Amino acid sequence: MKIDIMTLFPEMCMAMFSESIIAKGIENGLVSIKCHQIRDYTTNKQCQVDDYPYGGGGGMLMQADPLYRCHKAILDEYGEEHIHTIYMSPCGVRFDQQHAKRLAGLSHFILVCGHYEGVDQRFIDECVDEEMSIGDFVLTGGEIPACAIADTVCRLVPGVLADTESFTNESHWDGLLEYPQYSRPAVWHDRAVPEILLSGHHANIQKWQREMSIRRTAERRPDMLKAAPLTDAERAWLKALENEEG
Ligand code: SAH
Repeated sequence: MKIDIMTLFPEMCMAMFSESIIAKGIENGLVSIKCHQIRDYTTNKQCQVDDYPYGGGGGMLMQADPLYRCHKAILDEYGEEHIHTIYMSPCGVRFDQQHAKRLAGLSHFILVCGHYEGVDQRFIDECVDEEMSIGDFVLTGGEIPACAIADTVCRLVPGVLADTESFTNESHWDGLLEYPQYSRPAVWHDRAVPEILLSGHHANIQKWQREMSIRRTAERRPDMLKAAPLTDAERAWLKALENEEG
């Protein structure tokens, strides 16, 4: 899995990947993340990358040409005509775990970080395959979104996490939120771990975890529940539960 990030702040991004799980994935050669300084691709003496937007509106806009030249240099470096390119943008489709699964299936993609008021539309039209948002809010730059996406995708690469189960039974993998989890000690601040978890009865524990997952999703994210893969029996159980709780 190769990810190239175009940014005005490469150190900011690399700091995110220099520790912990993703750093190990890089060290073990499972993923490669490279950051490219867009400013290195300017042709003016001041290394200026931004200019005023036509039509006014305040703020500065990243110009198309340095972005284009940086993008082209990445294609040339890999000897590719095309690499799937995603521009981080609050105007994009909302990134989620399903997008992460799809991107994990690609072997290589480029993430473009905007700054200031954004980027010249002509760069998007010429080089970008899709625009992605990490939520309905506006950040100062695309670095946090790019790191969030790269991190999410990299932990799906086989071998980055210790075992596949670590992500397949997590929140959002199959359209449900994760059940509550507990570690030692069995009693802490007078709060006991649910008894069933200490029973050693694997099938009952799994059933409890599944029910807690469904309950939590129903309470916190009813919007997710419609599309969640529940059996008829589980839907009936949930309905009974809702009637019970009024
Ligand atoms: N003027 C733009 C916002 C620019 S914010 C607008 O109104 O849509 C500056 C940069 O931060 C953007 O170019 C984008 O790369 C990044 N950014 C900000 N919020 C984001 C979000 N929610 N998701 C992804 N990228 C975001």
